[in-house]
Amino acid sequence: MSGRAGRDEGAERIARVRARMDDLDVDALLLSVGPDLPYLLGYEAMPLERLTMLVLAKRGDARLVVPRLEAPRVTARPQLFELVAWDETDDPVAIVAGIVGRGVARAAIGDHTWARFVLELQRALPGTTFVPASVVTAPIRMVKDAGEIAALQRAAEAVDVIAAEMRTRPFAGRTELDVHRELVERMLALGHERANFAIVAAAEHAASPHHEPSAERVIRDGDIVLCDFGGTMRGYCSDITRMFHVGEPHAEVRDVYDVLAQAQDAAARRVIAAAGYGDSFVHRVGHGIGTEAHEDPYMVAGNSLPLVPGHVFSVEPGIYFPGRYGMRLEDIVVATIDGPLRLNNAPRDLAVVS
Ligand code: ZN
Ligand code: ZN
Ligand code: ZN
Repeated sequence: MSGRAGRDEGAERIARVRARMDDLDVDALLLSVGPDLPYLLGYEAMPLERLTMLVLAKRGDARLVVPRLEAPRVTARPQLFELVAWDETDDPVAIVAGIVGRGVARAAIGDHTWARFVLELQRALPGTTFVPASVVTAPIRMVKDAGEIAALQRAAEAVDVIAAEMRTRPFAGRTELDVHRELVERMLALGHERANFAIVAAAEHAASPHHEPSAERVIRDGDIVLCDFGGTMRGYCSDITRMFHVGEPHAEVRDVYDVLAQAQDAAARRVIAAAGYGDSFVHRVGHGIGTEAHEDPYMVAGNSLPLVPGHVFSVEPGIYFPGRYGMRLEDIVVATIDGPLRLNNAPRDLAVVS
């Protein structure tokens, strides 16, 4: 299957969403742009100024309100929803408000919905309290089924191939941007329909976790280089970080890298703090991954959500020394009844490159 709900998944996912709406006393779910709509219906709204919105009440038919010109892209699924196309002179917010009805106390609205539409709907439905749709959908989307895990595995295997290839590629004399372009091209060549990011950061730049690859910074002998890249393949995301060193690294760099590698296999922050680098680990340990590159569950202090089989997330400890260098190591892991299963298996040691 793809990131989108197929014929059978759609009905089953909608049933689970409705059960949760019942539990949470949510009377209507309103979904526009973003990943929730394709997860349920297999249809993704274009990020347009024209409103697309699924109105899913606890009972009865779901209605998909779309601009007339988008209607040809919608596959009819009369058993799942009724299509309501609006014309350029119609007021789509009034149409949605009319379907929702004034008696609705609580509506959950898609987290990615344009603020403009949220504000207009709030004005049109003054008696309705709005909550983010993720309270309904996130716990459901978080637990991946076998087809979704297989898709994440395929995406992970593709970036593993690239990470392994990069160990034999020259780095010195190339700009960060040049290496970035190679990563993007390889992701597309190996089956990703989209490259989402490809961070290439040499030495001092690697101390900034989300550094933008530079067209000026030429990688040179003695640089440590961070490559963090991922894309979307058949609807599901990949995300991997590997470290490269041009020429033999100094003992200090090797030692810090050893701490990082140990941290990835243990409770990450504890290992890094015990080695004295606690202040140099400036971000959370990881994030969930699925049809979105970053989604629930987030591996961060304060999140007490227990892991359950089917949760898929990154484990990506980092150590950053501003002005000098930084490093991160990242793999995608799936929680199974037998413990964690890594989806990435490219070599994890610090690769010495030319
Ligand atoms: Zn990141
Ligand atoms: Zn990453
Ligand atoms: Zn990540």
